[in-house]
Amino acid sequence: MLLYSDLPALVDGTLLQAPTDPTLAVQYLLLDSRRVGVAAGSLFFAIRGAQHNGHRYLPELYQRGVRQFVVDSASEIPGGPAAFPEAGFVVVPNSLRALQELVARHRAQFRVPVLGITGSNGKTIVKEWLAQMLSPDELLCKSPRSYNSQVGVPLSVWELNRTHTFGIFEAGISERGEMARLAAVIQPTLGIFTNLGTAHDAGFSSAAEKVAEKMQLFRHVDTLFYCRDHALIHAAAQQLLDASRTFTWSRQHPQEAHVAVTVLEATADRTVVRVAQRRPLPQEHTFTVPFADEPSLENALHCLMVLLWRQVAPAEIQRRLDRLHPVAMRLEMKQALNDCYILDDTYNNDLAGLSLALDALVRQPRRGRRTLILSDVLESGLAGPELYARVAQQLATHGVERLVGIGPDISASAVAFPGASAEFYPDTAAFLADFRPDQFRHETILVKGARRFGFERIVAVFQQKIHGTVLEVNLDALVHNLNFYRSRLQPGTKLMVMVKAFAYGSGSYEVANLLQFHRADYLAVAYADEGVDLRQQGISLPLMVMNPSPDSFQKLRQYHLEPEIYSFEALADYLRAAQEQPLPPMHLKLDTGMRRLGFTEEDLEELCALLQTHRAQLRVASLLTHLAGADEAQHNDFSRQQLAAFSRMAPQLEAALGYSVLKHALNSAGIIRFPDSHFDMVRLGIGLYGVEATGQQQDALYPVSTLQTTVSQVKTLAPGQTVGYSRRGQATDYERRIATLAIGYADGYDRRFGNGGGEVVIRGQRAPIVGNVCMDMCMADVTGIAGVQAGDVAEVFGPNITLTELAGRIGTIPYELLTNVSDRVKRVFVAE
Ligand SMILES: *Cc1c(COP(=O)(O)O)cnc(C)c1O
Repeated sequence: MLLYSDLPALVDGTLLQAPTDPTLAVQYLLLDSRRVGVAAGSLFFAIRGAQHNGHRYLPELYQRGVRQFVVDSASEIPGGPAAFPEAGFVVVPNSLRALQELVARHRAQFRVPVLGITGSNGKTIVKEWLAQMLSPDELLCKSPRSYNSQVGVPLSVWELNRTHTFGIFEAGISERGEMARLAAVIQPTLGIFTNLGTAHDAGFSSAAEKVAEKMQLFRHVDTLFYCRDHALIHAAAQQLLDASRTFTWSRQHPQEAHVAVTVLEATADRTVVRVAQRRPLPQEHTFTVPFADEPSLENALHCLMVLLWRQVAPAEIQRRLDRLHPVAMRLEMKQALNDCYILDDTYNNDLAGLSLALDALVRQPRRGRRTLILSDVLESGLAGPELYARVAQQLATHGVERLVGIGPDISASAVAFPGASAEFYPDTAAFLADFRPDQFRHETILVKGARRFGFERIVAVFQQKIHGTVLEVNLDALVHNLNFYRSRLQPGTKLMVMVKAFAYGSGSYEVANLLQFHRADYLAVAYADEGVDLRQQGISLPLMVMNPSPDSFQKLRQYHLEPEIYSFEALADYLRAAQEQPLPPMHLKLDTGMRRLGFTEEDLEELCALLQTHRAQLRVASLLTHLAGADEAQHNDFSRQQLAAFSRMAPQLEAALGYSVLKHALNSAGIIRFPDSHFDMVRLGIGLYGVEATGQQQDALYPVSTLQTTVSQVKTLAPGQTVGYSRRGQATDYERRIATLAIGYADGYDRRFGNGGGEVVIRGQRAPIVGNVCMDMCMADVTGIAGVQAGDVAEVFGPNITLTELAGRIGTIPYELLTNVSDRVKRVFVAE
């Protein structure tokens, strides 16, 4: 345990201010103020770079609980040390050097073999592969990813502890003088010089100078591995080390290396090599390297040499070669099911790598909750309880809300992760057996597993091409349409968006969430239960319920849902309930010509009297009416009469109430047709979902929903044969190709689309529906479309067949088609 009070002696510094707690110990090294994990044990080095100055972040770090600091200028402590009464400050000539010195001392405590890797290319891959190949024999400590810089190397080597039996660290430099410092930190006993690229390095005057500088890493190694065919590397090695301290291999100079390599056979995905070792013992073996490209072959051969030198049995070397996998150099963000995003890090899983990956997770834009799918953490050298307590701490500091733990060890340590949002599986197969796509929604999921857990299978199921019938909802298009309608409003006019009927079939929560993000003013649903669902999912916008039943008043109260009141009976119910306990404000619906729900002009006198009498018990949020014919120009006069009636009625009601309220009359079509009558608010519905009901501005909207299905089978019909039930698919005198599609009327595909009523788009071409539409499937004639096969996608509606066209074909309206898409059809939300 390193005490802060020991620090000045170790890093050639002076104690400027002692911390109030003299027992403070250094556990974590911190260089980036955004990455405070466990503040209490962190020592911050205020490092200066070309672009930044660590001293600027001291107040922020102090506020977050960091108490141990190394600075290289007392005068740059903002406000002076007194501004940080509990903190300790050690002043050093150079903070970066102090970091390196501290870690060099840490490294010197351990006597295990440490292998240093440098070279122009392949450092990280050789490191990862060698770790894979040595892991059955050793407990390894290695640099996470490509942590090979002046700061990355010390942070990596700091992780070395008593339990490790082997270290592998990579070193990369860009200027003269840098390698000696990294060598002092790594103190390698073994080395690999991977290769030398031709790229010109600005920091060096010549390739020879560059190679000599890099070679400094190996000044004190016992054995250096390199390929003899790189002449410059060979020359530099000969200068620095005598031959007894090298282990070389060659394809071009077989007589001059320890090992001669001959390629016997190269196929598209593997290379067979003969490996003839001359020294110390002559022996010859054949290996198959599971890669075909030159760089991978070279990288694999470096690793193979280390195993040969360690006298691992050839059959065992082959087994380990077989298990090598390409190394993912970057974390990738992948779009997955149910608007989830996957951060794919399925290649290794040690503690240092976990913390890096969690940092990456935190940097992603927030999309729903943060989830981690994590395998057993390997190679930590820590006992289970301590290890998983540390993991749990990391999850907490990175705001991970849900954990899926896979593996016997992490499952055994489940107690380290209290809380409902942790689940455990003994292995990957058990997880996959239980997997249901709808368990994951709207999450950013970090998938982090050790190689042997095969987590790429998990990523694959998240990304699987979604089979069967899918309603794809394009959230970007939805936002575009929202903004189009907004651009039509006077500034200050509020926007209520109708998310009734599962947001017109599109998925109420996802749509509502997006609308909340984009600051709609109000939402409206038909029934109280729809509102309750939205509230339970975290929607906090004001919500109007258009059809509240009297028995739902308790829910209205509990979830703050505002009822629409459209009759004297409903008003009496409201007043009765409000006498017991206050209710959210109401919206009064006025019937100006729809003749459906609402108070008419004849009701007005009685209504005003009631409102006046009960002023104390009720609060009105708005007055609304609804046009009967906004979408059709032929009803313009009638619509104007409705609007005029609304304008007459509203002031009388406001007078009775004694205050003014929001007034709104227009739906999507009305917004376009009656720009002078937007009142205080409009009610956007179908337009948001991409249908411009007046037809005047259709081009300004983007289609939001695409209903697509797949071809289950393709059949050839001989002349005279019929298709499907009741033999309605008419026989013809020529041979036809018929594709059976995985959609039927139970999915919402109307029976009226049968027998030529509808068309789908397959491979960019129209195919008419033949025969009757069945419950779960229907058939399309694909005779003229080349290459149709099972698994092909068929668009039912979307960009190529508009909802408006399809609705017109069976004499209905887009609203009905959208809301008919049944629950069993998966919704997939896409966004850039
Ligand atoms: C559904 C609904 C709307 C929205 O109508 P669209 O034609 O979809 O824009 C507006 N007002 C009321 C009262 C509604 O029920």
